[in-house]
Amino acid sequence: MKNELYTTRRTKIICTIGPASENEACVRDLIKEGMNVARINFSHCAYEEALHRVRILRSVREELGVPLAIMLDTKGPEVRMFGYSKPVILSKGDTLYVESTGKQPEEIQELPPEKRHFYTNLPRIDKLCSIGTRVLLQDGFIELEVSQLHNDWPGAVTLRVLNDGRLKDKAHLAIPGVQYPIPFLSDKDRKDIAFAVENDFEYIALSFVRTAKDIADVREIIKGVRADAPIKLIAKIEDKQALANLDDIIRDSDGIMVARGDLGIELPIEELPTLQKTIINRCYLAGKPVIVATQMLESMTEMTYPTRAEVTDIANAVLELTSSVMLSGETAKGAHPKRVVNMMGRIIDRTESSIDYHTLARITHDYVNRDEITNIMAYSVVNTAHDWNAKAVAVITDSGIGARALSKFRPGVPIYAFTHHPVLYHQMALNWGVVPFLIEDPEPLRFSEVAGKIIDLLLKKGAIENGEKLIFMASSPFGKRRPTNTIRCEVVGDTTFHEAT
Ligand code: PEP
Repeated sequence: MKNELYTTRRTKIICTIGPASENEACVRDLIKEGMNVARINFSHCAYEEALHRVRILRSVREELGVPLAIMLDTKGPEVRMFGYSKPVILSKGDTLYVESTGKQPEEIQELPPEKRHFYTNLPRIDKLCSIGTRVLLQDGFIELEVSQLHNDWPGAVTLRVLNDGRLKDKAHLAIPGVQYPIPFLSDKDRKDIAFAVENDFEYIALSFVRTAKDIADVREIIKGVRADAPIKLIAKIEDKQALANLDDIIRDSDGIMVARGDLGIELPIEELPTLQKTIINRCYLAGKPVIVATQMLESMTEMTYPTRAEVTDIANAVLELTSSVMLSGETAKGAHPKRVVNMMGRIIDRTESSIDYHTLARITHDYVNRDEITNIMAYSVVNTAHDWNAKAVAVITDSGIGARALSKFRPGVPIYAFTHHPVLYHQMALNWGVVPFLIEDPEPLRFSEVAGKIIDLLLKKGAIENGEKLIFMASSPFGKRRPTNTIRCEVVGDTTFHEAT
């Protein structure tokens, strides 16, 4: 079972739960194959359905005794084209009209298909375009260009179709590079965020974050629902504006998702590989978790075997040091959810075995945050673990900061992270290289007593053996929420090693 506590897999796997996987047997299989985070996509999910999924996920993670974070992914602002109910066949050279409307699709009176007259919820589309502006429909599969603007028809544009296609109901519309004048959060998003807080999700992934203020606004909404909610926010980077504000967004969020689906529409698709590399690198150096998402094993939604390009894509994300890789439709509605996770895990394991973690940890010295003693000590712990040939590092953590600091330096050994907070225990399942353990509150105990208990636990789990070396990092005494102040090196079972303490 890949999710066992002594796992050596460092890059975490996120699976989207949907109709193909929302049953106990499948969730059990996904966890056993290595799912660390379960995502529920609120673009396609009602509350009852979501609660059903959450109940199953909680019951199976409990049964198997493993950490598993549950993530709600918001729908976010969506630009659509509507005013037709049957698919429309478009041919190269066709002309069509798109008119901005404040009305909802169901309030629109449909016009006969030969009129080629459609509507969009994007306000004043004519003000966002000029002649020749590219417009993409349906995730970029149908490309058009603006061929006419109308002085006598404000809010409308004429588009020329550049390639044949079949337009599905309420198609997604994009004008690459344009800042859409629609709010970051819809009423639905606000309700969904409150739902995530009320139902104790561990993470919210926020679609189309564009500025650090967007994150601050969501934190305010969360505070209004429950002031001390420990929920963490992942900012999905999906457009040009988010990229322009990337460092601020990384600083103010708890993690980042490289949302390649929308990013590949809003920017020229050939930009994706270098953007992915840049975003991962900035998160890695900032010590924030980062997720690579979308179409990682798309062909396995139907097929039983991946394409060579998909295998290489996952391997490259691992080599770029992403914290996590994500499956969407592959596990939500695909034919082989268990097989897909197994394949992803095999690719991760093989690729990780080729990484030189020792060199990597040394060369990050310039990126130690000198303002944070926890960060400085984590750098030392990781390099000491490598130099001393330790089996693992163990961090006792109240806030997760110590575990995340160790993760930042990408050690070649597991980071066993011990906490008594159940939410944090599950949240840490997302962090690169971190193996979370839930323990009793260590506050009344002395450091050596907790260290002794941890060693006993690791011996029992088979995660460590007598004679092996373990390095502890913690803030002592416990429960005071102070920065890290203690590093302790142990040879397991060697009572002479710390005779005096
Ligand atoms: C994406 O755009 O890549 C993404 C993950 O977002 P969603 O699937 O919610 O559109």
